[in-house]
This record gives sequence, structure tokens and C-alpha cells, in this order.
Amino acid sequence: MSVLVYTESENGKFKKNAYEVASYAYEVAQQLKTTVTAISFNADSSEDLGDHGVSKLLQITNDKLKTFNAKAYAHALEQAVKKENATVIIIGSGMDAKYLAPILAGKLRAGYVPNVVAPPESTNPFSVKHTAFSNKGFAHTQINTETKIIGVSNNAFGVLENKTEISVAPFDPAVSEDDLSTKPIEVDKVAGKVTIADADIVVSGGRGLKGPENWGMIEDLAEVLGAATACSKPVSDMGWRPHGEHVGQTGKPVASNLYIAIGISGAIQHLAGVSASKTKLVINTDPEAPFFKAADYGIVGDAFEVVPKLTEKLKEF
Ligand code: FAD
Repeated sequence: MSVLVYTESENGKFKKNAYEVASYAYEVAQQLKTTVTAISFNADSSEDLGDHGVSKLLQITNDKLKTFNAKAYAHALEQAVKKENATVIIIGSGMDAKYLAPILAGKLRAGYVPNVVAPPESTNPFSVKHTAFSNKGFAHTQINTETKIIGVSNNAFGVLENKTEISVAPFDPAVSEDDLSTKPIEVDKVAGKVTIADADIVVSGGRGLKGPENWGMIEDLAEVLGAATACSKPVSDMGWRPHGEHVGQTGKPVASNLYIAIGISGAIQHLAGVSASKTKLVINTDPEAPFFKAADYGIVGDAFEVVPKLTEKLKEF
């Protein structure tokens, strides 16, 4: 018996999320007194998964599986589950995982719970805590099937160091014509943009920035830092920024190393989504803004003066 992890990669490199699901899987494996096996699809790197608790990597190198294809990936995972006699499968909660998991659950007749935010509360019976009602609440769900699939919410658990000796084995699952009944021809991606889920640093703007025309300074600061850009809910509601950038209770969770909040008051619903970030820097004109209470560093000042100066200074490094 083992715990199997599905790792996401891009251009041959694991995404940050792969290390987070591996860390989560290690915690589950500790509870079940077993080990973690990971499966990778055309990823070049391998050893660093061992830093996060993976004992064995099944490495797929197959041109037919170069671009994500939910049906084909689910079939490959099904074969890995059988080979490893895995009873718990850990995946992320991104779009790929959300396409893949229900197909896999159908194939394995497995119970699947997405958006899980914490290690299992119990493994016998198996129960997990996950977000519910569009992240407005939490639910606790028991999985009663022999095979279980857990979708870990991005950035909820974090990436943990668990040094483990890892062995790497090539894995060549069968890929049938039926698996490739649909085939992505081309994937267009916005180049050079760091996603909130993968970012070490997030630069986020709120209503204090007055309008979308002022976002240039947020983007400049983000570029210097190699950061992702984000925003508060009203900013995306007003269409100043895309909805994909809205963080908080009803938006994306952020668990970056550094979260820079500019012109954001720090309402409880916003803080709910950023509390897992390690260091928070707040820039706000109002010294009484609630965000300062949750901040590690604060600058009381006008964003229109502070941010350009900060960006210029950082360019010197
Ligand atoms: P404001 O509250 O208007 O704050 C603007 C801040 O900018 C102020 O603190 C002000 O002092 C400062 N400021 C003004 N000018 C400057 C300047 N020149 N330089 C620097 N600072 C300046 N909100 C979220 O963000 N995420 C969520 O997921 C979310 N979910 C919600 C769910 C529910 C059910 C509800 C009811 C609300 C939710 N909200 C959410 C909204 C939340 O309650 C707040 O209204 C929102 O976070 C406020 O956004 P803000 O801080 O950008 O704007």
C-alpha cells in the first residue's frame, strides 16, 4: 500500500503546487504508516521531490502525454494506482486536477473530495476538512470507499521540508486511441506572468489605488520582484483587474513568502485569504487601517509616493 501523488509540471519543471501536494501526501503517509510514490508527466527534474517526502518517483516520458489531457492522464494514473496498490491519491485543486479527478474517481470507483485544507482529521474512518459554499465556510467529509482521492487546496498546506531518499523508475503506461479522443492542439499562455499559486512574492492593490489607470506602478513593482499581481475584491468587482487576481475568502488563497498589500484596508474577508503568507508588508495612508494589526512590516504613507520610490530602490539590487 502507498500514497500516490499526481505532480503538475510545466516545460519540464515541477510547479510549486507539486511540492505542496507531495508535502501533504507525506503527512497522510505518516498517518497511514506507509510511503509516498509520485507520478510525473514529462518532467526533467526528479530528486528535489525527495526533499518533500517522496520515496519513489514513477517518471513518464511520452510525447503523447506532453500536453495535459484529462482522459489520458487519468488512464495513466489508474495504471499507476494499480501498480503501486495505492489507496489514497493526492492531487492539487487547480484546473487540471479538477478535470482529471472525477474521471479517475469514476475509473477507480473512488470517493473524491476537492479543496481540502488540512491533513486528514482521522484515517479510520477517513475524514477531511475542505472549503464549502464558494470558500465562505468549511465542511468535514468522510470518505467511505476503499480508494480515496483528495484534492488539496492550493497554498492551504504549504511546502514542507521532509528529506527522504528517493528512487526514480521510468514508467510507461499504455495510452489508447480512446484516451486521445480529444487532443489539445495548442495552448496559449500569457508569457512572463507569475501566477498567484506559484508566486513567492505577491504584490496586491486595493481601492486605495483609485482606478485601473494606476496599476502600472503595481506591475512595475511586481516585475522588479518577479512577483505575481493580485487585488482586493472590490477592485475586481469594479473591473479594474481580472477576477483571477482577487484574493481573500471568496477569491484565491495566497501562501507566498511575501505579500505586499497596497491601499487595502485589511477587511476580515481579505485577511482570510492571505493569513498563510509568511511575511506581510502593508502600505496605507491610514495608520488605523486594520491590515496593520496583521502586518509584519508597515509603511504609513501614500502609495503614489512610496511605491515608485520602493521600485526604484529595488532596481539597484
Ligand atoms: P477599502 O476598504 O476601500 O480600503 C482602501 C484602503 O486604501 C483604505 O484602508 C485607505 O486608507 C487606503 N488608501 C486610500 N488611499 C491610499 C493611498 N493613496 N495610498 C495608500 N493607501 C490608501 N474582500 C476581499 O478583498 N476579498 C474577498 O475575498 C472578500 N470576500 C468578501 C465576502 C463577503 C461575504 C463580503 C461581505 C465581503 C467580502 N470582501 C472581500 C469585501 C471586504 O469586506 C472589503 O470590503 C474589501 O476587502 C475592501 O477592499 P479594499 O481594502 O481594497 O478597499
